Amino acid sequence: MISLQLGACRTSGLSPDAWFAKSSDPDFKRAQGHCLRCPIRRECGDDALDHEAQIGLRAGFRMDRKAQREALRVWLKRPAPASPARSAGPARSAPTVQHAPRTCSCGRAFVPSTRNAERCRPCVQGLVDAEPVQAHLKKLRAHMMLRTVSDRTGLPSSTVRGIANRASRRYVDATAAELILAITPEVP
Ligand code: SF4
Ligand SMILES: [Zn+2]
Repeated sequence: MISLQLGACRTSGLSPDAWFAKSSDPDFKRAQGHCLRCPIRRECGDDALDHEAQIGLRAGFRMDRKAQREALRVWLKRPAPASPARSAGPARSAPTVQHAPRTCSCGRAFVPSTRNAERCRPCVQGLVDAEPVQAHLKKLRAHMMLRTVSDRTGLPSSTVRGIANRASRRYVDATAAELILAITPEVP
């Protein structure tokens, strides 16, 4: 797994959920726009194909759609994988496999999207639960402006505001969470 810390999805201020939303969701369109301008778009796409990602938006392509994964492969100019149909008898459409639920190292139970998936979706994306970070921001706000949090963490103020003000947000980038949780209220 490459480090996706430089990805536009880490600094966009959009909820990480946008990368997993329905195509019709306006946030999904915004997320896609970030992918298209992302400085590590190619690396992210390569990483997604290397790890057979089958969920979420990567490099602007929906990984839960076979046609989009194929479009990503073509965009990256990667060779077509050898067709298993040729060696394994007549072509047939791949059945949808439901894998048994597993427990991720973070403690979440999850249904793996591939046979070898060992980590839950948020962990793969480098995300942690938003709730403790939001609770901490609430405490900090009694002592300082969100802009100060932004200054002290080096995070864009849109990111800090996005975390603090969206109660429905479920996940936060792990690095952003660490930086915010490390701040203690200034005692005057
Ligand atoms: S290309 Fe990858 S790293 Fe960049 S914004 Fe999209 S999902 Fe994030
Ligand atoms: Zn996990």
